[in-house]
Amino acid sequence: MDIVLASANQGKVKEVKKILSEIPSLANCRVLSLRDIGFVGDIEENGTTFEENALIKAKALADGVHITIADDSGLGVDALGGAPGVYSARYAGGHGDDEANNRLLLENLKDVPLEKRTARYVAAIACVMPSGESFTVRATCEGKILFAEEGSGGFGYDPLFYTEVYGKTLASVTEEEKNLISHRGKALRLLAEKLAQMS
Ligand code: IMP
Repeated sequence: MDIVLASANQGKVKEVKKILSEIPSLANCRVLSLRDIGFVGDIEENGTTFEENALIKAKALADGVHITIADDSGLGVDALGGAPGVYSARYAGGHGDDEANNRLLLENLKDVPLEKRTARYVAAIACVMPSGESFTVRATCEGKILFAEEGSGGFGYDPLFYTEVYGKTLASVTEEEKNLISHRGKALRLLAEKLAQMS
């Protein structure tokens, strides 16, 4: 079975492929990214929630043949009233400029003490079946935003995102460690459970 993943974010695509390959019921699926299927268009994400945006992306790519999934994810910082939220990828303006996003986040939190720098990653995954039936799942990962970047792994806000589970940022842990506790890892395992119930 092929699963089309409606994402052009290579950091995400890599994570999703790895996580799905470790879920026994989905290990034999081929995951096709937008690049793999040659999709070069732009899908406008104009929803106001992660679920809406994930569904917009998955429905835009659904073809009546494959299972199509899309992840919409982001970071919610309590001291910033939940920002950057659905705007996480374009917080500093340009889409996917991780360095600028991290700089702006540090700037906006510069007067906030560590105990108030609580945050969470959220991932919503939408799934459209070949029949057209669709559903979403959501999971979170709790942490704190540090005062400076630490680590070189992961992507996006990971060098600033500290998790008490490992006592490190998500950019300082192995891929396996991140996937075990991440919003995306948890959401994909929920997706696999739902798909198993449907088959
Ligand atoms: P999307 O591609 O519109 O879902 O945007 C997701 C954005 O949220 C990314 O560009 C990152 O800025 C941020 N994000 C989501 N998940 C992660 C993660 O696991 N690590 C770091 N940043 C993340």
